[in-house]
Amino acid sequence: MADSSSVCASGSQVRGVTTLQPQQASAGLQQQQQQQQQQQQEARQPSSNSRPGPPEEDYSSSPGQQAIVAGAAILFAALELRGLSQISSPLAALQCASAAFAGYIIADFASGVYHWGVDNYGDGSTPIFGSQIVGFQGHHQWPWVITQREFCNNMYKVFLPTIPFSIFWLSISQWTPAWLDVLAASSAALVAMSQQFHGWAHTRKSDLPAAVIALQDRGILVSRRMHGAHHRAPFEGNYCIVSGWWNPILDARGSDQGFFRKLERFFHSLTGVEPRCWHEPKYDWEEQGSLDA
Ligand SMILES: [Zn+2]
Ligand SMILES: [Zn+2]
Repeated sequence: MADSSSVCASGSQVRGVTTLQPQQASAGLQQQQQQQQQQQQEARQPSSNSRPGPPEEDYSSSPGQQAIVAGAAILFAALELRGLSQISSPLAALQCASAAFAGYIIADFASGVYHWGVDNYGDGSTPIFGSQIVGFQGHHQWPWVITQREFCNNMYKVFLPTIPFSIFWLSISQWTPAWLDVLAASSAALVAMSQQFHGWAHTRKSDLPAAVIALQDRGILVSRRMHGAHHRAPFEGNYCIVSGWWNPILDARGSDQGFFRKLERFFHSLTGVEPRCWHEPKYDWEEQGSLDA
């Protein structure tokens, strides 16, 4: 191949061993431009995979996205405080602490079921969940984007559905025990925050705060290694993205008899709809290595 750096537009000035004709010079320029574009795309990716980037999109947080996240967070806090303010005895405090921990367990399971659903069913036209389905499908094509988004830009789609839930729960909380309010608030808040935990699972260790690394390494938050397995063929497990504690349980019986395969067969028997993972989705990108660096 000719040294493209030595080719001018007219093809008349050539250094090096090969003399190029104008057509060859034009081809060399095109090749040079393609190489530059590819280098720019690779520079945008924390992974070393040479894949094209996503369509142009704004990763900064808009005022609307910030309002959604702030509103949902205020409602979480109101619900949590509603429960905590009713603690009147050591037993009630123990009940609320247990409920908060139960919320953490439930949130991991719920994040897995939700993630499995949006990965495998529906599309952009699906009511309510359409944009989230598109988002999760896009995530499998361009997973590095989750690390580039600002906080509210990344979180608002998951926070939005919790707003009607929190309003409903607050409206009935005068009849609910304190521990149940704490359970509802903790579960909903951690399911919503799973998108942040998910983002951290895609972030290189060298780019994470020490506290997050410590929580991941102790298995309190889903680890980079565990979630990396979700992005490898056959793309049918490790759906839980809070702590990941449920992943080995739900995937324990393998690709035929695991929890999600049984759920898929059940839905298929009811609706005839097959999940995407039955046909091993052809994602352009696949996790190759570890993010432990
Ligand atoms: Zn996924
Ligand atoms: Zn992911």
